[in-house]
Amino acid sequence: MGTNFHYLPCALQDELRRIANAIVAPGKGILAADESPGSMDKKFKPYNLENNEENRRQYRQLLFTTENIQDYISGVILHSETLYQKTDDGITFGDLLRHRGILVGIKVDKGIVALPGSMDEGTTEGLDDLYCRCGQYKRDGCDFAKWRCVLKIGKHTPSYQAILENANVLARYASICQSQGLVPIVEPEVLVDGDHDIIRAQKVTETVLAAQYKALNDHHVYLEGTLLKPNMITPGQKCPRRNSPEEVAFITVQGFLRTVPAAVPGIVFLSGGQSEEEASVHLNAMNAIEMKRPWQLSFSYGRALQASVMEAWAGKKENKTQAQSELQKRAKANSLARLGKYVAGSIPTYKTDQSLFVADHKY
Ligand code: 13P
Repeated sequence: MGTNFHYLPCALQDELRRIANAIVAPGKGILAADESPGSMDKKFKPYNLENNEENRRQYRQLLFTTENIQDYISGVILHSETLYQKTDDGITFGDLLRHRGILVGIKVDKGIVALPGSMDEGTTEGLDDLYCRCGQYKRDGCDFAKWRCVLKIGKHTPSYQAILENANVLARYASICQSQGLVPIVEPEVLVDGDHDIIRAQKVTETVLAAQYKALNDHHVYLEGTLLKPNMITPGQKCPRRNSPEEVAFITVQGFLRTVPAAVPGIVFLSGGQSEEEASVHLNAMNAIEMKRPWQLSFSYGRALQASVMEAWAGKKENKTQAQSELQKRAKANSLARLGKYVAGSIPTYKTDQSLFVADHKY
């Protein structure tokens, strides 16, 4: 087996490492606001808000102009539509975030498609023009990227076919991003859908991550300039046996210790349908537990940072201040959880703290 390859130039390695480490700086994490225009339907529908470009712009403007979020948020992931949209004052959202000291990330995958021959599994598209798009995004001020793959737990899944294909496509994406100066967030999400218990979730997540790091090595990806965005290891959504935050923390950290190299600077969890409070409590438990932690354990939450904001805003101008204060609260709760200092229930959500589970979630 040939093992020759070209190292990235030293200056590029340094830049990638600097960006990755800045994203997982202590007490900070990522706001994932890269929902595609189509998937904003789910957010807007309960409030009878039309899902059009202007309403999406208004909503993102509310998020990105919230005071003091840079104290808790190191990076925001955007959809390309949002990167080039402007504030009422004519500043692009990308520039606005950068001027606030927040790194700009960009979703570069083009969504999930069926994997023919598999048992209802999928892979993620978007490699064809990725090299050019990454170069353009870097010139337009982006410093990191995201690509999401999903794996399903079922009686016969995830299959070997799906595990290998998704690991490989993520590795190809990661190497292309790095060549253009973007830190790749590698996201092989094992979905929470199903009635499996936490031990099955642990075995599947470990198998997926082991394949992922083999593929990243095969593609000569510079691990110090990457971040991993995984699911936490929890029982399936329909599993009757629920585990305590301490059990979730122990099993998740144990699973990652077995499979994620210490060279990786940070693991930025997705919230995956957990409620806002649950996502903070679990992250806190992982950062508080007495175990080895060679990487930073942080957040890259979408639903668990935005549910209260959306409920408080409901599309009405007069609710803007309240909605922004909800974002500050969730960002602060997760910032404390990064440090193992979040006290459960101390920063209440806007209304009831509900599960944010969406079956077969699309982004
Ligand atoms: P959730 O936190 O809503 O799971 O989404 C995070 C994300 O960016 C998924 O790609």
